[in-house]
Amino acid sequence: MTTLPALFISHGSPMLAIQDSPARGFLLGLGKSLPRPKAIVVFSAHWESLGGPAVSFAERPETIHDFGGFPPALFEMQYPASGSPELAGRIAALLEEAGLAVKRSPTRGLDHGAWVPLRLMYPDADIPVLQVSVLRGGTPAEHERLGLALSGLRDEGVLVIGSGSLTHNLYEFRGQGMDAPVQPWASEFADWMHDQLQHGRREALLDYRRQAPHAERNHPTDEHLLPLFAAMGAGGGKVKGERLHSSYEYGVLAMDVYAFA
Ligand code: ZN
Repeated sequence: MTTLPALFISHGSPMLAIQDSPARGFLLGLGKSLPRPKAIVVFSAHWESLGGPAVSFAERPETIHDFGGFPPALFEMQYPASGSPELAGRIAALLEEAGLAVKRSPTRGLDHGAWVPLRLMYPDADIPVLQVSVLRGGTPAEHERLGLALSGLRDEGVLVIGSGSLTHNLYEFRGQGMDAPVQPWASEFADWMHDQLQHGRREALLDYRRQAPHAERNHPTDEHLLPLFAAMGAGGGKVKGERLHSSYEYGVLAMDVYAFA
């Protein structure tokens, strides 16, 4: 069994599902470039919980269209992957062994942070998928611990994904085009993150909110960056991230994808 990397994927706008872009093109090829997973676990920015992580036990997770104001085609899309209550049980146990208070959700489906990239990577929806929440108000270090608790699953063919966005300030989206010029405050932040990840500077990364340039402007709230730290932990504590893809959309969304292994 080949060990899979843990991935951080910037999922951008839901339009990623239907509108061509360099990031979309990259994700269309990413699934085929990896050993085929037996199951997929997604930490999604679009599922937040308080106090402890939530784990989805749904056998047939529904496709959640958790967005508004997009074309009807997006609302018609389905991602009919099965869940895996058995793996969910193991994940809950691993998280509890790590000292976390786990909430078991019997019905939670797949939000667009999970199904939009997975529909590009694994269009046949024939690999079981389940989600784990991020912690509302949680720290980067807490999310690294969440990921670390699951890092052993990679040896068993489980693909762990943190799905968020390397930069994410939707207040700065004012109808500009997808290929609008990149804002310097966004690229300076993304470049700083890349520098730390490339060199495996764990302390700086966990303290990004104080040390990174324009951290608060890029992440007024940081639920879209926290999945990066979960992926970093799931990489087994090897902080160095390999950047697999880098591009921008709308001048403000960095669509970078990193692998940790
Ligand atoms: Zn999002």
